[in-house]
Amino acid sequence: MRFQVPKGTSDILPDEQPYWRFFESRASETAASFGYGRIDTPMFEDAQLFVRGVGEVTDIIESETYTFEDRGGDLITLRPEGTAPVCRAYLEHGMHNLPQPVRLYYFSTNFRYERPQAGRYRQHHQMGIEVFGDGDASIDAEVIEVGWRVLDSVGIRDKILGLNSIGDTECRPGYVEELRSYYRPRVDDICRDCRRRLDQNPLRLLDCKQASCQPVTAGAPRSADYLCTACREHWEALLGYLRDVELPYRIDHRLVRGFDYYTRTVFEIVPPDEGSQSTMVGGGRYDGLIEELGGAPTPGIGFGMGVERAILNVKRQGVQLPTNSRTKVALAHVGEAARLRAARLASCLRMAGTPAMLAPRRSLRSQMRYASSQSATHAVIIGDEEMGRGVVVLRDLDRGEQREVALADLETVLRGSEA
Ligand SMILES: [Zn+2]
Ligand SMILES: [Zn+2]
Repeated sequence: MRFQVPKGTSDILPDEQPYWRFFESRASETAASFGYGRIDTPMFEDAQLFVRGVGEVTDIIESETYTFEDRGGDLITLRPEGTAPVCRAYLEHGMHNLPQPVRLYYFSTNFRYERPQAGRYRQHHQMGIEVFGDGDASIDAEVIEVGWRVLDSVGIRDKILGLNSIGDTECRPGYVEELRSYYRPRVDDICRDCRRRLDQNPLRLLDCKQASCQPVTAGAPRSADYLCTACREHWEALLGYLRDVELPYRIDHRLVRGFDYYTRTVFEIVPPDEGSQSTMVGGGRYDGLIEELGGAPTPGIGFGMGVERAILNVKRQGVQLPTNSRTKVALAHVGEAARLRAARLASCLRMAGTPAMLAPRRSLRSQMRYASSQSATHAVIIGDEEMGRGVVVLRDLDRGEQREVALADLETVLRGSEA
């Protein structure tokens, strides 16, 4: 084959589309029911936006994003994640002047130059929400609940909410020092990546997936034990709100985010028995991000949900998609003159609101097979002789019955079959 889909990307074929449309409509309805408004941002942005927004060290911007100079010499990056562009839009459109909080949701296509392996995509789809301008713990609970309810709305029943607080600029430095002092004497027992993290990003020591690091991590100090008074109150209030709406949670001391602009709440929703490798929803509070992007200090919180993974779980849990029982007509013909009539009738039916398609110019038997393959509910067969009498043959493909119908009555009869 001369051309193939690029590594780490995939085509979404017509058979798959019902899952995507189902997810998109349910997720949108759920977000809207919480008062969220949809926002769409461009697929690419000034590369600098993501140097701040993503990446442990700045070389990530070069090695893990699609970043290139365009013809005008501007350095641009294909959107690797959803939050930074929405923050940019919030600032650019003066949404900080609107009544706060501002609640937004989005669907985005994200690009990462990932090493291709199972479950890694170079182009993937995300649904996410962001709330700006309200630091109250009730908002944390709300954001978590939106993620939970979106999964509910597509029928994903089995899921676990993991939760942690990583404090803020007030209390985190002290905790990070505790973490360092704990790991330093154990440096020979941890993996090479973790040795690097010990210097550069100690919080990330906690979410190392290497088996060799697990015994050390299990005994590490827990951020929730080192919160300052304000962070502790926020954390306890959040747990209270979650209990109020009966969202079962599990405190996961190893749930962290590696950047300074992340504050307090970190959460994820995972399928049972699979752990964080298969996170369906990941989110948290980022009270420092808007300021880092040049705005006034503004609290923010949100989550991202991988659509591919959500759909995988929809299938795994055997969710039945709502069936579309709408009438769909295939126009078959016998004879050349009838072919023309079929095309004209198809056009009329569509204008009247009934999906209709033309069967191919082949034998009647072959046209019928095509009609079935397209899940048509009815075939309308037009023949030269019937045309002379002003009638067509209407065949109900599900029941296998057929009868003559006056051309003038066809639309009414089809509409009557909708029930
Ligand atoms: Zn490790
Ligand atoms: Zn604190």
